[in-house]
Amino acid sequence: MAGQVEGKVALVTGGASGIGAAVAELLAQEGATVVATDIDELRGPELVTGLNKAGGKAVFLQQDVTSEARWAEIISEIEKRFGRLDVLVSNAGIGISVPSITDMTLADWRRQTAINLDGVFLSVKYSLPLMRRSGGGSVIMMSSLAGLRGAAGLAGYSATKGGVRLLAKSVAMECAAAGDGIRVNSVHPGIIDTPIWSKIPTEATGNRANAPIDPEERAKIATPLGRAGQAAEIASGVLYLASDASRYVTGTELVIDGGMNAGAVVRPIVSK
Ligand code: NAD
Repeated sequence: MAGQVEGKVALVTGGASGIGAAVAELLAQEGATVVATDIDELRGPELVTGLNKAGGKAVFLQQDVTSEARWAEIISEIEKRFGRLDVLVSNAGIGISVPSITDMTLADWRRQTAINLDGVFLSVKYSLPLMRRSGGGSVIMMSSLAGLRGAAGLAGYSATKGGVRLLAKSVAMECAAAGDGIRVNSVHPGIIDTPIWSKIPTEATGNRANAPIDPEERAKIATPLGRAGQAAEIASGVLYLASDASRYVTGTELVIDGGMNAGAVVRPIVSK
């Protein structure tokens, strides 16, 4: 049986870890040729070697999404090798948590914005022309639940993810107006168990034990479904948006958060 994205060429940024790696894996399993890019030159090549061994078609290209010059090179490399681009998953991102917005340095604000927002802008600026020459496509931007709701300690992160949400909608309108066959949507994960949590410095976690954030512990309390999500559960949503099953879907937001955006469930406290 043909895969859900058979024959498509997909670019996944931040593809070496977590959600990006799960997306690369699922798109490859479903028949896409996957170009995974990342700054991580250790895990990226390992991932694509695994995907190719499993029968997929994948390549890794080193990329810092904040470099405009590199974006031009990546897109021309994709055109040279594969002649087209059908799916862009603009996923690379970081989360900088601080006890208060007043503790955030301007350097950290700019670094986070450069990756989470400038990087997504550049991804669209450089991918759309090739997608248009390919006859259309699907752009999927990785926002967050923090792009829909506020989160204490994550004001800067929320600002970038809220920006991504409306960038997606506006680019969706541009593409619809142009009639270029390109759909643009944002994905909003809740608490997903990936390495991103362990990258948050312990002094910023706001807990007295000064311990790293455990996404599973946090999700048990904060998530109506009572557990953290898995990267593969975000990848399933991305696959839907990448595939022709979502051909009438543009400018929307796919929330995959175990119910967090809908409300709260009060559970009895169970003492250990
Ligand atoms: P992760 O840390 O596991 O993976 C992020 C990847 O992005 C890493 O491989 C990293 O090397 C790469 N990256 C970082 N800076 C980069 C740069 N400048 N250029 C290219 N690549 C770069 O994190 P994840 O949880 O898989 O996050 C993926 C996306 O999902 C991010 O945009 C994140 O904000 C978003 N998200 C994650 C969660 C969650 O709970 N894990 C929730 C909501 C949104």
